[in-house]
Amino acid sequence: MTRIASHRGGTLEFGDSTPQGFSATARMNVEEVEFDVHPTSDGAIVVHHDATLDATTDTSGTIAQMPLAEIRGATIRYSAGGHPLTLDELCSIYVDSNVDFRCEIKPGVNGLPYEHFVDRVVALLRQRNMLERTTFSSFLIPSMDTLLQASDRPSLWLVSPPVLRQLGQDAVVKLAVAHGIKEIGVHIDTADATLQSRVAAAGLDFGCWAAHSVWQIEKAFELGVKVFTTDRPTLAMAIRERRGASA
Ligand code: FE
Repeated sequence: MTRIASHRGGTLEFGDSTPQGFSATARMNVEEVEFDVHPTSDGAIVVHHDATLDATTDTSGTIAQMPLAEIRGATIRYSAGGHPLTLDELCSIYVDSNVDFRCEIKPGVNGLPYEHFVDRVVALLRQRNMLERTTFSSFLIPSMDTLLQASDRPSLWLVSPPVLRQLGQDAVVKLAVAHGIKEIGVHIDTADATLQSRVAAAGLDFGCWAAHSVWQIEKAFELGVKVFTTDRPTLAMAIRERRGASA
């Protein structure tokens, strides 16, 4: 069965990385909740997509340069007044949920990995008994290298359309194998059966991200990918149920 991951807690249904989106996803019949993490200036770990608060909240500032109290003062747009969550709070929401974590390790505003960050994320998830329920992901090869050293949990490499275009399918697969990567995810619009079979032939799992429209979600099910992320988890569940009922 193709797994559904609620992207940032279902951005198009609940706002971007909002408390209400994460709470709603925890009660859904989906397999994973996707979220992104950044460090604060005072040692906390915040769940937010962007490295800054500028685009998605009523506040501006770079998360890694702000103390947690200040970040908590920000109101996320389209969130019914919600504020950014810490990773610790997200663990509390999911402790009794059947939905597992897909934790994306984000870079800082300079595009480079945060120093010594992966170890702290892994340690917190272990402490909260969520590590065994977590799959990690990253667009950055250096972060993938770090993840594979820091934990034996599954980690998937997110391959962006420009990277796939520049390197080509074969080089992407070779690079993944060379780095010990076991799974890759591509944008749904760049996924096709050829790439899927090349990835499978190398012994790697294959998934997609950003399947938000009906036809993108249908495509992910049609290809039979392992997992896809979507900003519209409710829509994806409805499509999966309909397909299951007519199968
Ligand atoms: Fe993400």
